[in-house]
Amino acid sequence: MIPQILALDIAGNPFEWISQQDAIYYYATDKVAWALGEREFIFRGGVSNAGVLSEIAVKPIIAIARSERMTSMLRRQLPLGDDNSLLFARDRNTCAFCGGVYARHQLSRDHVLARTHGGPDTWMNCVTACRTCNQAKGASYVHDFRPLLYVPYVPCRFEHFILSGRNVLADQHDYLSAKLPRHSRLLA
Ligand SMILES: [Zn+2]
Repeated sequence: MIPQILALDIAGNPFEWISQQDAIYYYATDKVAWALGEREFIFRGGVSNAGVLSEIAVKPIIAIARSERMTSMLRRQLPLGDDNSLLFARDRNTCAFCGGVYARHQLSRDHVLARTHGGPDTWMNCVTACRTCNQAKGASYVHDFRPLLYVPYVPCRFEHFILSGRNVLADQHDYLSAKLPRHSRLLA
């Protein structure tokens, strides 16, 4: 799979995972303020009138110039989403009730306060549970079932980008993980 490019705002906050094509656009329109990473992806374009072959070297991490407005719109918290992949990744595929580590298809999203009791679909109310534990718990309250082996938390923006990235390159992973809070399970 072709690696994605990590786009940052001018202050260095992760803004979006973008395609290499989108990154080329930012380079070509002179909107890359600074870039990081050992690797380079080289793209060759046409030949100019002067006979020079145009070439763009895309770095794995680019900061977008004139992005102050983008920065002001960044939300601190990013959504959990409907797909369970971010949740399972946060909890490292570990059931919050029995502690077992399972394959994805054996896992489910458990609502700490069950939805039938008004529990919301949020990072703080969801944990990973194996299907057996989830069924056994049903709509019970946690204190009537079993204690949670770990507590849910909201991933920070940097952690969220690690969780949501596909084929994250070493440079990108290093950049993002340097900003993780200590409670992050990705550091364990
Ligand atoms: Zn379990």
